[in-house]
Amino acid sequence: MTPAGNTRGTSIFASVDLEGCATLVHWDEVRPSADAQYQRARRLMTSEVDAALRGAFGAGASNAIVNDSHSVMRNLLLDELDPRVKVVSGRLKPQFMLQGIEGCDAAFFIGYHGAIGDAQAVMGHTYSPRVIFECRLNGEPVGETTINAALAGHFGVPVALVSADRTTLEEVRRNLPWAVTVETKESIGYFAADSLSPSMVCGLLEEAGALAVKRLPEMPPLSLAVPIEMEIDTLRTSQADMLELVPGMRRTASRSVAYRAGDFAEIYRALMTVIYLGAAA
Ligand SMILES: [Zn+2]
Repeated sequence: MTPAGNTRGTSIFASVDLEGCATLVHWDEVRPSADAQYQRARRLMTSEVDAALRGAFGAGASNAIVNDSHSVMRNLLLDELDPRVKVVSGRLKPQFMLQGIEGCDAAFFIGYHGAIGDAQAVMGHTYSPRVIFECRLNGEPVGETTINAALAGHFGVPVALVSADRTTLEEVRRNLPWAVTVETKESIGYFAADSLSPSMVCGLLEEAGALAVKRLPEMPPLSLAVPIEMEIDTLRTSQADMLELVPGMRRTASRSVAYRAGDFAEIYRALMTVIYLGAAA
């Protein structure tokens, strides 16, 4: 947040995923490949984040950094972004979808999607559907939106704008009620949605980006009660077998592990460990 009288302009951090962008309903469209449908999806992703940031710049934001947060994290068509935007791309990144957020004033989550287990969530998953069957923070099932908002909160950054399907925005209303939202589509099921047109979504995102900057002084960073307990149900028992070897990780059920910490940066590292170690099990 920029205190009144501070001459430094507002700095925006945008994490952009793909599953929640307009019209997309199938893995074939979002899995990196030479296919025309993925190439179209990358253009949508690029134009949606660019529209939100154009709105933010128009409302006084001074600089922006975008984290390419989907899959291999090399999806955005960098040459088509506003030249004022800096980009974090590629993996691995210690802060994963939020690498680059430190020192920023506001977070935009663009093209986000529902949690694994959400009914009516197009391509709903929580980071790795091959490892994570459910993730709970302090007992509440959460998706990437809330988890990433908690890491943003750790760095003192409020989530100011989220664009996603309707189901994801219900999670936003529960946990981040201050955020400006853009509903890109209404999920009908895992592989179906009723979507606005891409150009309509970009228009809404430009307006929302401006509104988010104006309302930023009223928006708090998300703060969870401490100590924070993260519990993860894994897909397979072999994954829990391996994860319980990690110092501090407790086995709580045949397919569940838990990790407790006083700060969310440590929880997020434990979560990255679950994703990468679980994939190797
Ligand atoms: Zn994604």
